[in-house]
Amino acid sequence: MIARRSILLRLPKDKCDVDYIKRLMALTNLGYRNFEVLVPDLPKNIQYQLYGLKNYKNSLVFGTSPKRWFAEAWIPLVTLRVYTKDFKKGNTTAPVVLDFRNNIIKLHQVCRSEPGSVVKIPLPSWVIERVKEGGDIKFAMIGLKDGEPYLALVAERVVESYQPSDYMLVIDVNAWNNGIAWGLIRDNMLIKWKPERPQLSEIEGLYNLSVRLSKKYGKLRRLGLDKSEEGKRLRREIRRIRRKLYAKLRDYTQKLVHRLVRKALRHKVLVIIDNMSEESRRGLLEEKIPSGLKKLYLMYTRRFVKLLITQLKWYGVPYRFERLLSSICPVCEHELTQEEGRIMVCENCGFKVPRDMVPMYWVIKEVNLGDREETEQ
Ligand SMILES: [Zn+2]
Repeated sequence: MIARRSILLRLPKDKCDVDYIKRLMALTNLGYRNFEVLVPDLPKNIQYQLYGLKNYKNSLVFGTSPKRWFAEAWIPLVTLRVYTKDFKKGNTTAPVVLDFRNNIIKLHQVCRSEPGSVVKIPLPSWVIERVKEGGDIKFAMIGLKDGEPYLALVAERVVESYQPSDYMLVIDVNAWNNGIAWGLIRDNMLIKWKPERPQLSEIEGLYNLSVRLSKKYGKLRRLGLDKSEEGKRLRREIRRIRRKLYAKLRDYTQKLVHRLVRKALRHKVLVIIDNMSEESRRGLLEEKIPSGLKKLYLMYTRRFVKLLITQLKWYGVPYRFERLLSSICPVCEHELTQEEGRIMVCENCGFKVPRDMVPMYWVIKEVNLGDREETEQ
């Protein structure tokens, strides 16, 4: 199985020509639609790539096929990897060169149109780590995100899943405000359980501040004062706060995934993921949280699952999705009642655990049931 991972790197705006990248993106879009537009002033190696790589569009991490006409399509590019003076991989005319000797990435005429122009950026440690793990970076993409130029690198690696040990890692995903809970199971016993969630007060604080400032900015705009010193200052401040908010959520997501994947590898577990249910999505919508914040929580929950899967695949960790119940008693299958503080109680048999721990017991029960069925056959 080929596993892929990708990273986005912001390119120096002052060294790139945004209009040129826009033009390349438009040509890429045409390429995806089987229109070959040969532009005389475009280097041949880039031109041919636009058409030659279109077959990869669905397999590249960032290369989802554009859904409509003139949708922004990132430019797919092949790379040359230079490890030592004599050891190179890839096409020698590739416009993206990863130079491991000097730890730089050289971009030939894909950020600016002047012939022979080269933009150099430092090689991120992410690349070195992926290569150490046996990955190779055959493809890159260039494009604009919110008007800023970016380079996306795609690492790929052939990987086989390992045979799981007698450990299981169950990950119960809720919307981000209730976080996730994980449980480590060994020999049908829950040996460790932990709920995880981001610092909500900090996130809510930043969100509320950005809303308050946006309202103030809106007032200025209605008065035609948005271009004033005050208006400009306010706008910069809003952007800064939003960036901080997204960075906090992103950081938390990445660190949590990293920790869970390490844990999975350490014990050679089988991972069972209970993705956010329709029920918890509805639950979130009913809560008294501003709608913008709800959207953010849902978005980062989805990102968490996506990132988790990408990394589990990359490291060959076997996993599967399972719908696990949290409102039915895993002992007697009686309906559970929710008490204060998300505690679930069974009025029939007295089973009582935190809500996010119930799914762990269902996994154990199912494993036991499976064992019994096997012996009976
Ligand atoms: Zn019960």
